[in-house]
Amino acid sequence: MFWRFISFIALQLVGGLAGWYAVSSMHVATSELLGVLLGVVLGALIWFIWDLYRSLRLLRWLRVGDASDVAMRTGMWGEISDRTRRLIRSREQMTRDSQKRLQDFLAALQASPNGVVLMDSQGKIEWFNQMAATHFGFDAQRDMLQQFSNLVRDPGFASYFVSHDYLRELVMPGRESTPARPVKLSVHLHPYGEGRLLLLSHDVTALEQAEAMRRDFVANVSHEIRTPLTVLGGFVETLQTLPLSEEERERYLALMAQQAERMQTLVSDLLTLSRLEGSPPPSVSEWMSMPALMRQLEQEGRALSAVLNPSSDRLHQLEFASLLEGQIAGAPNELLSAMSNLVSNAIRYTPTGGEVHVRTLVLPDGRAEFSVSDTGPGIAPEHIPRLTERFYRVDRSRSRDTGGTGLGLAIVKHVSQRHGAEFKIESTPGKGSIFTIVFPASRLRLERASSS
Ligand code: ADP
Repeated sequence: MFWRFISFIALQLVGGLAGWYAVSSMHVATSELLGVLLGVVLGALIWFIWDLYRSLRLLRWLRVGDASDVAMRTGMWGEISDRTRRLIRSREQMTRDSQKRLQDFLAALQASPNGVVLMDSQGKIEWFNQMAATHFGFDAQRDMLQQFSNLVRDPGFASYFVSHDYLRELVMPGRESTPARPVKLSVHLHPYGEGRLLLLSHDVTALEQAEAMRRDFVANVSHEIRTPLTVLGGFVETLQTLPLSEEERERYLALMAQQAERMQTLVSDLLTLSRLEGSPPPSVSEWMSMPALMRQLEQEGRALSAVLNPSSDRLHQLEFASLLEGQIAGAPNELLSAMSNLVSNAIRYTPTGGEVHVRTLVLPDGRAEFSVSDTGPGIAPEHIPRLTERFYRVDRSRSRDTGGTGLGLAIVKHVSQRHGAEFKIESTPGKGSIFTIVFPASRLRLERASSS
């Protein structure tokens, strides 16, 4: 500012001097004072023109210039230009920093395992992450700034959206949900800012399935226990209230014992399943002799056949072929439980006189196979995939009459999985069924083997 003032005065002084000099040296007929005055005015004019030129340069630089360049370096306009440039650069830096922060936030939201959708106060989509695009089938190019409720047309969601009651979350069908493969999404809206909405979504299909399975399981167990309990209660009441002959009492007590045994079998199967689920994988260093196991299965099988047909002289035709002279690595009690379930099923479901073949053998690729085949009623193909579900039965009354719990094949499947084995079911209705467990070669230790 000081130099600005000095330059202004200096130019006027120089102008005044030049005016005085011009008038006196040219011997013009005007007074010297007028020459000085003219010189001062001219000096001021030059100064203004020069100043105007510099300010216009600065204005032009402000309009179209580059902040990395300086419009001018000296004088007041130079300082204004320098300070403006620094201000612009610091603002640019701040903008870059907040852009970077915004990008970092969006990257974090993008990495979220939940679907995230940001909506403005009108419910238009401002941003969504990839997971939300997958959940709702959005397209980043097409669906930005679209009305969310126009794209997600589930009636449940529509009423949730307009209710403005966002304390709870909503479970709705996912985009790819079909009756055969239901997909469930949990959707929760959170208001924020000035009327804006944040939508979080996550896939709860597995959770919902687990919850449905838990509900079914509890209902099934209650039902299975209630039935024998009701029967037992009825008999107790009869024994208490009616005068019965010794023979009748004995018959009722035998029936009661049968129901108690049924409950015991059910509880023991439930305990087996829960042990299988909760215990560590079976050891690979504990070996179990297959011929010994087959002998035990044969004993149990023949006894069961006799129990099921007490009055019949035609028992099942049972064949136990132990073609595998070796050992299997695993938990002996689990293996025995799985295999005896298969043998017991074959005997229970095959009418008397039918055939049941139980065999162990080594496959050409070195794996060990345990199979149980029967000439029973067989199973229709639509039931086969569901047989290993807990409490799934094709023929409820036959299962109950023969002491079944509906848990046997679930146990077999679990035990097979825990031993790295493959469990297969093949069946032809009217002809019979074959249940096979194939153990990996790594779990087999041969003493002397013959394969067929
Ligand atoms: P359950 O205790 O009822 O036998 P499982 O889980 O062992 O339960 O078997 C499930 C269902 O599979 C049975 O209820 C029966 O309908 C069918 N099933 C099992 N084994 C045989 C078989 N060998 N022949 C025909 N049906 C069978």
